[in-house]
Amino acid sequence: MSKKLRIAVIGAGASGMMALIKLREAGLTDVTIFEKALSLGGTWRDNRYPGITCDVPSLAYRYSFAPNAEWSHVCAPGPEILDYLKDIAARHDLERDIRYDTEVRTADFRDGQWHIVTSQGDEGAFDAVIAAAGVLHHPAYPDIEGLDTFGGDMFHTARWPENFSLKGKRVGVIGTGSTATQITGAVVDEVSHYSLFQRTPQWILPLANDPIPEEQREAYRKNPALLEEEFERLSSQQTESFAAAVVGENPRAYAALENYCKEHLNLVTDAELRARLTPDYKVGCKRLIMSGNFYQAIQQPNAELVTDAITRIERGGVRTADANSKEERLHELDVLVLATGFDAHKIMSPMIVTGRNDKRLDRTWAGAQEAYLAVTIPDFPNWFMIGGPNSPVGNFSWLQTAELQFGYALKLIELIRDGNARELSPTHEALRTFNDAVKAKMPDTVWASGCKSWYINKEGHVASWPWTFAKFKRDMTEPVLTDYEVV
Ligand code: NAP
Repeated sequence: MSKKLRIAVIGAGASGMMALIKLREAGLTDVTIFEKALSLGGTWRDNRYPGITCDVPSLAYRYSFAPNAEWSHVCAPGPEILDYLKDIAARHDLERDIRYDTEVRTADFRDGQWHIVTSQGDEGAFDAVIAAAGVLHHPAYPDIEGLDTFGGDMFHTARWPENFSLKGKRVGVIGTGSTATQITGAVVDEVSHYSLFQRTPQWILPLANDPIPEEQREAYRKNPALLEEEFERLSSQQTESFAAAVVGENPRAYAALENYCKEHLNLVTDAELRARLTPDYKVGCKRLIMSGNFYQAIQQPNAELVTDAITRIERGGVRTADANSKEERLHELDVLVLATGFDAHKIMSPMIVTGRNDKRLDRTWAGAQEAYLAVTIPDFPNWFMIGGPNSPVGNFSWLQTAELQFGYALKLIELIRDGNARELSPTHEALRTFNDAVKAKMPDTVWASGCKSWYINKEGHVASWPWTFAKFKRDMTEPVLTDYEVV
């Protein structure tokens, strides 16, 4: 007999929206998305810095149920992706089930249900929870003396003030990740002076972001099969070459990646600057950056790569010291941009989640965050994560990953709906076996080859998916019920 389920989704980003659409498709219509912000879109809402684009080719960055012929560029600008999400939301009338300005504060598992309290009050009990609160969500602020004393405008890249212009200003950017690289290419020509504060150089794969001509878009519009073919081609290119290369499964593709990046550096004509931009770790150890304009931009006469260490931030700018001479220099700035990344290991924080027998998730995860197949957690029944620890971040299109994780969760939810289970959580043994396998395989990946990156958790382990896309797809296809405690 089919049971009517009440389901909570946390987060109205790309993953939570997809969950709502697919739950409705499965006939599960009593669904509420709790979203703490005032609008949807998650990361594409929060990140609106100049130059933001997807770093996966857009024709491969889409939901299976929403092919898109309209992308303007090979890698679509962020606002276009946000519009894509808004359009999907409108077409599916998602907002009727989204509660904005409603932050989940606590979730307690009692009497077989999740009792949720939000910033708006007690929301009652839910039969299942889809936690889709994002991975790169909490900005990481650098711990630098005097940060608060800066006299100009200062903000994190994920908090870019609306309509803020850098035109004609002296701009400093701290960080050299994907975000800072995109900003550099986009703003150097309009600022009066640009200082990029680099602690660690990055490998950059050349990727020219060409426009997709209107004739091509028209061809995709007229012939959806062509659009699908292009999706398949780009996706398999991504999974079979790039993603397989970084997990040690395609040495030829890895060698090609290395070559592309090393060759790319030759665009830097000055040997001293090139040396300062050359990493001393393996290509792909940190998340590989894609850019077709960074090296040109950093060589502009008004741009400066600062590699002396930052000693403190002052009212007038950023002070650095030469490692050898200890000579100090003040880089005077009007604007200081913190492109210092995110705390990727604060998943679902600061929510207090309490499972069976008063077990708190923050305490369970105090050592390391662990989840079975990245989706479920022992003692936290009927709680399903999209983007949980060890999700395949950084090697596949996130939208594809999210759909696969959701598909896995839905199979379990359907067992509950159909009366075949009331509570489902993985066994401790299943989690242990999974984690042992992760740890055994991780050394084959380039992420574990010796560098600092946001993939590495508090315990010092790489928290990504160390296998191929084919294995991920297989593991997400059908839950193995013997790995579950079924009540
Ligand atoms: P990130 O890759 O974590 O880079 C942070 C940068 O800040 C690093 O260069 C880091 O230096 C530097 N930094 C941090 N604290 C510092 C300090 N105290 N002093 C000096 N430098 C400091 O962050 P991100 O660039 O925002 O990118 C994060 C992820 O977001 C990316 O890897 C990617 O997955 C995603 N992203 C995606 C897109 C897209 O197009 N889809 C675009 C942007 C970002 P160290 O390297 O020395 O630690």
